[in-house]
This record gives sequence, C-alpha cells and structure tokens, in this order.
Amino acid sequence: MTSATSTTLGFDDDLVRGLTAQLRATSGETFEEQSPLTGRPLATVPRSSADDIGAAVTTAREFQPRWAAVPVAERADCLLRLHDLLLDNQDAILDLICAESGKARMDAYMELVHLVLTARYYGRRAARLLRTSRAAGIVPGLTRVDVNRVPKGVVGLITPWNYPLTMALCDGIAALVAGNTVVHKPDSQTVLTALMGIALLRAAGVPENAWQVVAAPGREVGPQLVAGCDMIAFTGSTATGRQLATATAGRLTSISAELGGKNPLLVLADADLEAAAEGAARACFDNAGQLCVHIERIYVDARVYDEFRERLVSAVTGLVLAPGLGWDCQVGTLISPAQLAKVQDHVSDARTKGATVLCGGHPRPDLAPWCYEPTVLEGVTPAMRCHLDETFGPVVSLYRFDGEDEAVELANQGTQGLNASIWTTDHAHGRRIARRLRAGTVNINEGYAAALASIDAPMGGMGTSGMGRRQGAEGLLRFTEPQTVATQRLVPLTPFGPIGSATGGAEGFVRLLNRGLRVLRAVGRA
Ligand code: NAD
Repeated sequence: MTSATSTTLGFDDDLVRGLTAQLRATSGETFEEQSPLTGRPLATVPRSSADDIGAAVTTAREFQPRWAAVPVAERADCLLRLHDLLLDNQDAILDLICAESGKARMDAYMELVHLVLTARYYGRRAARLLRTSRAAGIVPGLTRVDVNRVPKGVVGLITPWNYPLTMALCDGIAALVAGNTVVHKPDSQTVLTALMGIALLRAAGVPENAWQVVAAPGREVGPQLVAGCDMIAFTGSTATGRQLATATAGRLTSISAELGGKNPLLVLADADLEAAAEGAARACFDNAGQLCVHIERIYVDARVYDEFRERLVSAVTGLVLAPGLGWDCQVGTLISPAQLAKVQDHVSDARTKGATVLCGGHPRPDLAPWCYEPTVLEGVTPAMRCHLDETFGPVVSLYRFDGEDEAVELANQGTQGLNASIWTTDHAHGRRIARRLRAGTVNINEGYAAALASIDAPMGGMGTSGMGRRQGAEGLLRFTEPQTVATQRLVPLTPFGPIGSATGGAEGFVRLLNRGLRVLRAVGRA
C-alpha cells in the first residue's frame, strides 16, 4: 500500500475509491470529510441507505453459521496476518490517521500498536479461551458437564473518531474470532481510516460477508442495528451509550459499552515530582486530550502542591504543538469545530466563574483551524462545567488535598469511573489506594498507557463509564454465550424407579441425599 496522502493532504482518488468501494452504500448520496489539519475537504464518501443497512444485517445473519464453522485456529490466523499487515503498511496508515483526525503522528503510531497488540493477543489466545471447558457434575463420575462458548451471532459495532483505527477494529476482531459476523458503523468523520483497517482485515483472509461496513449518521444506523443484531458493541459518549442501552433493553439485545471518563490523577507527597509532572503532561495532552482514559483532574498532596504545579506548567509549556504529518508534533489539533467549541466553552465558563489559567487557554488557528493549546486550570469549583463534566480536550484542573481519605473522596466524585492514576514511590501503598478508587483501570506511576497496553487484562469503566470490558479473556468471552451441556450416565436423577427401590423409597432417598450433602460440605467440596 502506498502513502495515502500527498503533501497537500489531498487523497489519491484511486485510494479513496478503493477504500470506499468496501462500503455497503447504494443510495447514490455522499458526504464530505474534512481534514482537521487544513479545514478543507479531504474525501467524498458514499452514504449508506436504510436498505443498505438492512441488507448488511441480513447478509451477516445468513453468513454467520458458515463463519462460525471455520475452525477457530483459522479465524485466529487472520488476526496474526492482520498484525503483520498493520506493521508492513504503517506509513500509509499513519498518514491517513493524521490527515483524517489531526492527531500527532506518535499518537497515531500508538493506536496502531494497540491494534497490533490486540491482534496478536487474540490471534494467539482465542483458541484456548474459546475451548469447551469441563465443570463439576452433580453426581461425580456420572454427570459430565461441558461448557461451550457459542458466538452471539451478529454483532453491531459502532465506533468513534478519536482512535479511528484501533477503536474501529480492536473489539470487532475479538467478536470475529469468537465466530460472530460484524456489521460496522464507524464515525462519519473518520470513515477512511476504518476502511483502511478493514481492507487489511480482508487482505488477511476475513471474508467480506464476515465484516460489512456502512456509513451514515448514528441516529439512523443505531435503531436498525439494535433491531437486527444479537449484540451491540459500542464505544463513544455516555449520552449515546445510555440511548443504546435503553433501546437494547427493550429488545433484550446484549450490549457492551465503552463510554466517557473524567479521570483523576493523584500525586502523593512521596512521588518523584519530576516524573509525575512529565507523566501527567502526557496523560492529559496525548491525542490532544481526545482520549477516553486521559487525565482531566489532578489532585496533589498540599505539601508538594506548589513544587508540582511549577514542574507541571513547565512540562506543559514545553510540549510541541505542531499539527501535521511529521514526527516532531507532540500535540495535534482537535478534530472538529464542535470539539473546539466544547473546549472553549469549558475554559471560558471556568474563567468567568473565577478559575485561573496557569498556561494555555487559547485557540491556535494559526497552526490548524480547530487547534487549541494545552491548558492547565487552577481554582476550579463545582459551579464550573469542567469540574466533573468530561471536556474531552486538552484541559486539566489542578487541586490540592490533605490526607489520603480526602484524596480518595475527591477522586471518586462524579458518576464516571473509567481510569485513574496514582504517583508514589511506595508501590504497595499505591496499590492499596487503588482498591479504594471507583475506576476500571488504575495506573501507578503512569497516566493510562500501562493498563491500556496490557492487553491480557480487562479494560473498561465502572459507573456511567461503561458496561462490560474489552481486552483480556472478558473482552473475548463477552461475544459468546456460555452453553452448558450436561450428560447423565447410568443412573437417572430421580428418586423414583430403580434408585427409589435401592434406597428404600422416596423417604429413604431423602435421608441418603441429606447425608450426602453433609458429607460434601464436610469434605469442603464446592
Ligand atoms: P458519540 O457517542 O457521539 O459517537 C460515537 C459513535 O456513535 C459514532 O460512530 C456516532 O456516529 C455514533 N452515534 C451517535 N449517536 C448515535 C445514536 N443515537 N445511535 C447509535 N450510534 C450513534 O461519541 P463522540 O463524542 O463522537 O466520542 C467521544 C466520546 O467517546 C467521549 O465521551 C469518549 O470518552 C468516548 N470514548 C470512550 C472510549 C472507551 O473505551 N471507554 C474510547 C473512545 C472514546
């Protein structure tokens, strides 16, 4: 695959045609994508109609038994081939991600790495995790119990723009290797990156009918996917997650939802303050703050607050804000006018109500049309919108705390519980505090990356940050239904008939069973 963009960011027409040809879109209508790097049109994308979406779901349903019949080892091999294709084609992929989302090239590389890690993990582990397991039977030796992992069926996958490659594929490949077929709706702002990932998936051997992709607004596609699929796998805002959860509840359709966060970072008095400030700057401003697990609240022990504040401001003002395709950029641009408006609204609301801007606080249209400076606020109060509402941009608030109990109480404010970070030189103490935090992941001496990149462990949110987990065994098994198959041998499970005669009738049977239950309890059997 050649580089996707020219220096003017205009896409090669053949590349766009090739990518968009994968869409199920026959309406003849199109929509425009803009590049956040220039604000100018980037590509024209065909729009899917209601009929296209319906046809995709029907095809997925018809094809699913055939896909599930492919041995799991063969399905897993597709993921390992995807792993290699992602690495082989990374320059073209990174160009496309940067041009379409406006993020820094290193952020784009990190999301590619996340998908590579996920593909390898499920490529290598799926067969073992999906294997039929044995459970203890009611009558040892006579009742054999197998637990099968049956695919849910058709999974409706709805993905966001902020990590347009890995969020588009990382959940779907788990669904696929578990034997499901996928109907995918990526965000309309980043369809091409998703399509490039899907092109590689097809090159890796995944049949077209196993993973179909449509492009249309979520409010149109959502109801059809909820009505036609067996499960919805959604990543996006808590507001949309709530709507989808309500819709799926009405039909008893399964749902997993990876939603928003307002993630806290704690700096304890014994922390290495230089490392904490540098780590916090990355954790707040990677991906220009458009990252579900990034940090938007920092709580610092009052004894080291002033020193930490100075080091943080110095680290943040040193970040290179240079949207473009090159590696020199540390912080890219926001993706859209809507994102810029939300960030400006939070900062101006905080300023008006008395917060202090320690650094940043301005848009940078001279760099890219919707670019905004990394911003640190102090003096934020509960009256301000950025206090507990997710900004989803490059804005963090700094607070002080006195004592561990107050730190935990402050960190646990609000309803979201996605990620948290603790900085301390006493790791065991950090892990004890972690148990008191309501967060699906807690990173000690890292902002978010240690947990996110550890694919063997589950990742997701508590409270209004989500339902279910991606990654690890949970991230695969959520796409299956456990099916228990119990085989009874030799004697039936009834007190009547031969068993009743042997035990002296129903009462004799009850006495025998009672004795047996007491023995099992005494010998410690589960
Ligand atoms: P969003 O909910 O507006 O959109 C996400 C996806 O849902 C898009 O594809 C969109 O088209 C679709 N959608 C919108 N309305 C829909 C509806 N009514 N029915 C069905 N689909 C619909 O989210 P966003 O604002 O674009 O994305 C940012 C949010 O996503 C942030 O809150 C962020 O924290 C969250 N996020 C969470 C994770 C995670 O893993 N927890 C990862 C990335 C982003």
